[in-house]
Amino acid sequence: MSDSDCLFCRIASGEIPADLVRSDPDAVAFRDINPQAPTHILIIPRKHIPSVADLNDGDSDVMGTLFLMARDLAREEGLTENGYRMVVNAGADAGQTVFHIHLHLLGGRGMGWPPG
Ligand code: 5GP
Ligand code: ZN
Repeated sequence: MSDSDCLFCRIASGEIPADLVRSDPDAVAFRDINPQAPTHILIIPRKHIPSVADLNDGDSDVMGTLFLMARDLAREEGLTENGYRMVVNAGADAGQTVFHIHLHLLGGRGMGWPPG
C-alpha cells in the first residue's frame, strides 16, 4: 500500500534517492535532509499511513517495528550510553510537514525540554 504522490513512499520504493541506513521488508530508515542533531534519522513504515491519527487498532506492530529499528540504529550510531530522543510529530500544531508516519531518531548532543 503506497501512494505515488507521497515523498516518503517514493523514498521507500527507491524512486527518490536518500541516504538509507536500513531497508527491511516492513520499514526503511534514512538520514534527514535537514539534520537537527549530529544523528538525525527518519524511520518509516513501507505502508502509507499519513499520521498517527490514521493508525488502525490493528497497526500496533507498525509502530513497534519503528521503535525497535530506532533502538538498533541508536546502538549502531553510538547513542545508547548518552541517550537520544525519538519524536513523532502528529498534525499541524506539532509541525508535521510530511504526511507519511515517521519516527525521528535524534542524538549526539544534549537536548532541552520542553520542546519548542
Ligand atoms: P516532520 O516535520 O513532518 O515531523 O518531519 C519531516 C522531516 O522530513 C523533516 O525533518 C525534513 O527535514 C525531512 N525531509 C523532508 N523532505 C525530505 C527529503 O526529501 N529527504 C530527506 N532525507 N528528508 C526530508
Ligand atoms: Zn507514503
